[in-house]
Amino acid sequence: MVKNKKRFPLFQTFRNSSSIPASKNSVLETANQSISVESSNETSTAAPYSGQFECETGNYHTFCPISCVSWLYQKIEDSFFLVIGTKTCGYFLQNALGVMIFAEPRYAMAELEESDISAQLNDYKELKRLCLQIKQDRNPSVIVWIGTCTTEIIKMDLEGMAPTLEAEIGIPIVVARANGLDYAFTQGEDTVLAAMAQKCPAREGRLKNINLPIARSAIRADETLKSARTSVEDQATKTVTSNSSNSINADPPISNKQLKELVLFGSLPTTIANQLQLELKRQGINVSGWLPSARYSDLPALGENVYVCGINPFLSRTATSLMRRRKCKLISAPFPIGPDGTRAWVEKICNVFGIVPTGLEEREKTIWTNLTESINFIKGKSVFFMGDNLLEISLARFLIRCGMVVYEIGIPYMDKRFQAGELALLEKTCIKMKVPFPRIVEKPDNYYQIQRIKELKPDLVITGMAHANPLEARGITTKWSVEFTFAQIHGFTNTKDLLELVSRPLRRNKNLENHDSLSKTFALQ
Ligand code: SF4
Repeated sequence: MVKNKKRFPLFQTFRNSSSIPASKNSVLETANQSISVESSNETSTAAPYSGQFECETGNYHTFCPISCVSWLYQKIEDSFFLVIGTKTCGYFLQNALGVMIFAEPRYAMAELEESDISAQLNDYKELKRLCLQIKQDRNPSVIVWIGTCTTEIIKMDLEGMAPTLEAEIGIPIVVARANGLDYAFTQGEDTVLAAMAQKCPAREGRLKNINLPIARSAIRADETLKSARTSVEDQATKTVTSNSSNSINADPPISNKQLKELVLFGSLPTTIANQLQLELKRQGINVSGWLPSARYSDLPALGENVYVCGINPFLSRTATSLMRRRKCKLISAPFPIGPDGTRAWVEKICNVFGIVPTGLEEREKTIWTNLTESINFIKGKSVFFMGDNLLEISLARFLIRCGMVVYEIGIPYMDKRFQAGELALLEKTCIKMKVPFPRIVEKPDNYYQIQRIKELKPDLVITGMAHANPLEARGITTKWSVEFTFAQIHGFTNTKDLLELVSRPLRRNKNLENHDSLSKTFALQ
């Protein structure tokens, strides 16, 4: 039976959803606590999205979230990742990501076989054997167990086994469920960071319910903080006496407000993390730590007086964990993707720290001016997001600011409260560019999306790997969404690379058209 593309019987419309608090200076109420969200900056007004928001009942048609291993093991240099799954998971990691799991880098597969699944072998003993081998061969500071679909299905009690085993082997174990059944592509990182947040030392000097290695790292973090505070005070004194310049290259005065601590969460390559840190330093804000840190022993101390801010839109579970379980205060800001997002992100943090930001407007303006040629190439072209990596709202907002027409933003999962700042900036951008608010479709049904793509004929479809080749074969230009996950797209300085990712497939197909017409001309001669 041919399905009628006009009928979408499974749609549920959540227009004007009231799940986001509407007031400025709103209070986000959670089961365990209420946190104040200081939002005098208009980019972070937590109002409901005014555009069309729908939820289709499609599955997660995304890359498997266990792929987070490929970038997290590089980021946390003293870690070891153990993926507990079947051959399928092993093949996925090895083939799709081009990583050699059998070459013994700092991750491995604990491959479940018939005897494991039918409970003929003892899970605890098997995992202990493997973890002791890891300890002997690599001696990591932390072992991260990554649960997969199989451990979910056979209900393997990883969280129950980990505390006993970590006490036995003397290495902390972090358990993250990153299975492809419940989570979309980038949410793998989210589950790891949410679990790791529990292992961060406690601020306030009292180290509760944590084991010895972590206690040691807490003491180290405390000492680091004390010396950081001393250096902040020294620097502030020096700055006052030396009549500092306003140049963005000069070290700015460190505000007294810096006594509030700021921890950023999200995994970025070190160079990009340093760039963002520098942007904040220019405004007089020091970052006290990152989750994840480059070394497990340097995990930031967390507590009631610590402000946390995310750098990626897929980290809602981590944000919730930091708020509810570690009592941190979440700064709800747009994400530092594109010059507009980066400016809004820095502005929001400054706002919470009581600092008036300087030089950001000029900085953003200069970047847009320098990229006029690239922007002119994509201006007026249309784009359709099928939904894969949860970066879709931020990317769409940036592309609308570049003058593109966004037909649809498909997104596998959306926490409207965590993305409130980003949604507000999307609306503000649409108003500024005088375009309608794009339609957002959560958990899109790919069948209906293909019908809409056929009808709308967008110039570019940003999609997961599964659909790219079939769409290309039907004459639709595509870009793999996975490339935006791995490329360096954060901060002011990477805007050119971000634009290049979008314009490259459009340029490639244009060149191919020219080549085709030239070939035909020569053939006729
Ligand atoms: S979807 Fe499930 S079975 Fe497939 S690779 Fe991911 S975790 Fe393994």
